[in-house]
Amino acid sequence: MPALNRLLRAGAAARPLAAAARGWLSSLVSSEADARVPASLARQGLPARRDPGSRSVQWVFLGCPGVGKGTYASRLSQLVGVPHIATGDLVREELASSSPLAQQLADIVNQGKLVSDEIIINLLSKRLESGAAKGESGFILDGFPRTIRQAEILEGVTDIDLVVNLKLREDVLLAKCLGRRICSQCGGNFNVASIDIKGENGRPGIFMAPLLPPAQCMTKLVTRSDDTEEVVKERLRIYYEMSQPVEEFYRSRGKLLEFDLPGGIPESWPKLLQVLNLEDHDDKQSAAA
Ligand code: AMP
Repeated sequence: MPALNRLLRAGAAARPLAAAARGWLSSLVSSEADARVPASLARQGLPARRDPGSRSVQWVFLGCPGVGKGTYASRLSQLVGVPHIATGDLVREELASSSPLAQQLADIVNQGKLVSDEIIINLLSKRLESGAAKGESGFILDGFPRTIRQAEILEGVTDIDLVVNLKLREDVLLAKCLGRRICSQCGGNFNVASIDIKGENGRPGIFMAPLLPPAQCMTKLVTRSDDTEEVVKERLRIYYEMSQPVEEFYRSRGKLLEFDLPGGIPESWPKLLQVLNLEDHDDKQSAAA
């Protein structure tokens, strides 16, 4: 039975979503506080490493549209062996279906607006349910929570160990969104933007090489319908209004790791591993591969 139906049947309309959600979402995530959190984070006042045998990581990636949450969350999820769950992907999967919800979602997403907390919680709970059935544990969430209410609901059902806040200057975010391309056949993510901004007035420059697709994808590239200049600007505005307060929510709980991207993947990935104290992990994985 769809989670939202259960929620409604439980009388959610008459009580706060957080209280109603707690029952069913909490059965899908671990509520234990223990997790493998990198030791280096203790230096920044973030939670220190727990027992190696404790539960899988439960991390969140925050950041503006186009910052690269998907890229880095996906790489890290492979490294630490937990699923990468992007609520934007869940929304796009729903959009691609012929469900009654799809048309309603298309209008919202194409205007750059947020879909309702109820719909997102429903999509997320279904994703967690199917993952749990396959034996998944832990997660790296990308694009959730995006409102204070979503953060409160998540906090009500489980402990998040670490929240990584990726940051980039706004002109680069816009260029990256406009340069984003997806291969309609293999689903690969690419970026045709070539960013080379010189430093000035004490502000560092930034260089990001394009991430070009292989020849076989070149003719099959599509652009996300919400990656137009007008919609990206609206998504950024909504991020500052609705999602930036979520940064403070986690900062005040001592869970926020700020990460200014120094450049493209070749510069940023090793630095991210370094601050997460995962460089050895990467070496071992590469050696085993
Ligand atoms: P993204 O791929 O993360 O940029 O998400 C694409 C779109 O999906 C967003 O612009 C929203 O319309 C919707 N969406 C994704 N995650 C959420 C969320 N946590 N809350 C509300 N809407 C979301």
